[in-house]
Amino acid sequence: MASIDHARALYDDVVESSTERSADQLARELRARAEEVRGEKIAGTRGKVAEILGSASPEDREDAAKKLEDAAKDIGTVFQGASPEFRKLEGDTAGEAQLESSVIRIDPTKIVSEDGEMIDRRKAEDILEHEKEHTQQSSVADATGITIGAQKFDARQIREAAAISVQDHIDFLSDEYRSIAQRLTMDAADRELVRKGRFKALEARKNHVALAA
Ligand SMILES: [Zn+2]
Repeated sequence: MASIDHARALYDDVVESSTERSADQLARELRARAEEVRGEKIAGTRGKVAEILGSASPEDREDAAKKLEDAAKDIGTVFQGASPEFRKLEGDTAGEAQLESSVIRIDPTKIVSEDGEMIDRRKAEDILEHEKEHTQQSSVADATGITIGAQKFDARQIREAAAISVQDHIDFLSDEYRSIAQRLTMDAADRELVRKGRFKALEARKNHVALAA
């Protein structure tokens, strides 16, 4: 087993040991686990992880410890000042936010990298920016939806289009979200209207832009 797999198993074990924590807490727990791995104190870890580490060479252990520390550092870097809560979220949801609030929740199992790194910083940053946009959005609006050309969008789709439009990348999004992003693009002025719940003005603006193009 490669050290990245050891590190991932240890990361998952840390993440699953608590229902909710801050970025600081999560980073601290990952660093503590790295120290345990170095100190070969694996008694406290659950069956599967203890088994994995039991068969790992000292070099693999050191490597896994280093990767846990890298994950802690990346989480600190990406989320500092934003204070999201880290917790498991249902289904494919990587992040969620309450409109008109400062509440942001991030699922720590859904910001892991597909390659040899632990944390996908690019993805984590985009998820955070997306959720931050939602916190600025009004929960009330002057219409239940908009029609642009022949396409209709409901309130949820409008707010998602605005939040997706602040992301640098959309490759990791669901088909539904990518489709929304393609059909309903937004600039800063559009986002401002969404924030204020001015869907009627947004509809007029988008249709005008569509006609003028
Ligand atoms: Zn969203």
